[in-house]
Amino acid sequence: SVVTRFAPSPTGFLHIGGARTALFNWLYARRLGGKMLLRIEDTDRERSTDAAIGAILDGLSWLGLDWDGDVVYQFSRAARHREVAESLLAAGRAYHCYASQQELEEMREAARREGRPLRYDGRWRDRDPSEAPAGVKPVIRLKAPTEGETVVEDQVQGRVVWQNKDLDDLVLLRSDGTPTYMLAVVVDDHDMNVTHIVRGDDHLTNAARQTQIYQALGWSVPVMAHIPLIHGSDGAKLSKRHGALGVDAYRGLGYLPEALRNYLVRLGWSHGDQEIFSTEEMIAAFDLSSIGRSPARFDFAKLENVNGHYMRGATDERLVEALETILPELDAPAGVGRTAFEPAFRARLLAAMPGLKERAKTLRELWDNASFLYAPRPLVLDEKAAGILSEGGRERLSGVIGRLEALPEWSAASTEGAVRAHAEAIGVKLGQVAQPLRAALTGKSQSPGLFDVMAVLGREESLERLKDQGV
Ligand code: GLU
Repeated sequence: SVVTRFAPSPTGFLHIGGARTALFNWLYARRLGGKMLLRIEDTDRERSTDAAIGAILDGLSWLGLDWDGDVVYQFSRAARHREVAESLLAAGRAYHCYASQQELEEMREAARREGRPLRYDGRWRDRDPSEAPAGVKPVIRLKAPTEGETVVEDQVQGRVVWQNKDLDDLVLLRSDGTPTYMLAVVVDDHDMNVTHIVRGDDHLTNAARQTQIYQALGWSVPVMAHIPLIHGSDGAKLSKRHGALGVDAYRGLGYLPEALRNYLVRLGWSHGDQEIFSTEEMIAAFDLSSIGRSPARFDFAKLENVNGHYMRGATDERLVEALETILPELDAPAGVGRTAFEPAFRARLLAAMPGLKERAKTLRELWDNASFLYAPRPLVLDEKAAGILSEGGRERLSGVIGRLEALPEWSAASTEGAVRAHAEAIGVKLGQVAQPLRAALTGKSQSPGLFDVMAVLGREESLERLKDQGV
């Protein structure tokens, strides 16, 4: 059965490209009833950090991408990597190379002069080990084929061919006995029974190198799919400016995980022109053959639209909970809560949510729009709202407080009745009264439905706010 894997190097956060690679591997495994494994490629001891490992695991969990079995830590398998390198040596498929740093530097220099990539010239390939210089620790190099071709039948890129004369004898084991990335990946994928390798196409050349290692070992090569990297909206390679942020940053910016996941699946993969996919639909439709060959462009506006879609469809409770997860980052004033919402505030937020969720594309935007629920009194009006009140709005509200005070019960329907009656009595359209009311009650010129706002605020608070503004 199918076994895929996600194999991040824990040298930084889980960025958006890595998250997409994980998603594709996850979808493919789930689609075929297989497994997705997680391997942390922590062999670079200098650059790997626990914080990065934590960020990767958290990011995957937040996106709902679960993996099968235990996490495999590549560094812990170093002895096995060495053993495989030595078995290749014993089988005559690899050799000790004693070339000094200086010799390698000369080869590099020659390559530079001739304007071609560095190619190790194989000087120790057929040399008798008895010629080894004393006291020098050798590396182990693969005895790669010098003629013919190495071919990768890639599920996305098609048939990709390298001339073996262009590929030199790569290092498998360094002189300190540590494996190179190229060896470790092959050994781990083999030992983990990986059947499909899905990863960024920056690894395409590595695929040729790795294929040579598989062949030397007599192991079967997994199916490979190299996905084009994500580009920015201007077509250039994705940078921070374009949205190359960590998954955690998207969480903090107020995106829902289901929205980010839906957005990511469409980055480089398509299913007709369908944009919105439930998890089940995504799994059922996913296939490697529908991954595009050209780089997908990251588009913030589209991500926002997808997020808005998921926010409108989410339950009020879910959105309150989602906001709560970023509450520490929201700079909420006293009374709201620091790490969890205060019960009274939570109830208000929940009551206002139907109106709020219709108007926001991110949780952050929703939170800004909800400021009328938490801004301290007296409200500081924004410029438009202040203008509405000062340019005749305050006068048109004269008398409205009396009508509202006289209401036997307070609800969206009853306040609407009172406000309509007031507008009629002074001979203006409803909007002429609703606008200044909104300005005084929310401090803004736009808000959820005015009468819902009044219902959520309650009678006392609503009237106090009107009085604050000199109504
Ligand atoms: N560790 C590699 C990376 O983070 C991926 C290796 C692979 O998928 O084969 O780029």
